[in-house]
Amino acid sequence: MKEGITAATAEAPAPAVPDVVLFARALAFAAHAHCDQRRKGARAEPYVNHVAEVAALVAEATDGADMVAVVAALLHDTLEDTDTTQDQLAAAFGPAVAATVAEVSDDKTLSKAERKRLQIEHAPHVSPSAKLVKLADKISNLRSLKSSPPNGWPRKRISDYIDWSILVVDGLRGVNPTLERQFDAAVREARAAAAAALG
Ligand code: ZN
Repeated sequence: MKEGITAATAEAPAPAVPDVVLFARALAFAAHAHCDQRRKGARAEPYVNHVAEVAALVAEATDGADMVAVVAALLHDTLEDTDTTQDQLAAAFGPAVAATVAEVSDDKTLSKAERKRLQIEHAPHVSPSAKLVKLADKISNLRSLKSSPPNGWPRKRISDYIDWSILVVDGLRGVNPTLERQFDAAVREARAAAAAALG
């Protein structure tokens, strides 16, 4: 079934789907794929809140100019955190979206330390659309540190996380000044919140 779809797609590209249809399809896909997942923070927000925030950040910062990035933002954690495959994404959303999601996905067979190191190393080399998604993802994650801090994270772990995010984002700069400013603000606020909460 999956192979049939891939082969058909390769022979004759599907007719263009209106952007709003693609967007709604991706939102429904992400909500379904992440339906049993919650965010790590104390509020345990539904996971789809995170991907909706990342997509909104990308859409607003680019004024909707990069639809591949917006749709990939909605789907950005489906390969890493759910059973979704890149072929499924390509069949439903096209190869560009699928490739962008793959670019922002860690290889879960590697250790956490290695995955974090590779994010820093790979950041400068991903496509512009993937850079937008990664920047927005890091903004959302830092904002969560403030609005819903993870239970039991000591101050050192929070500050290490912020420092690591800065290193990843160093490799993403140059693609969108709005997102970069929002990231810098999120860093300041996360640091201030951690200092206030933990003394
Ligand atoms: Zn994410």
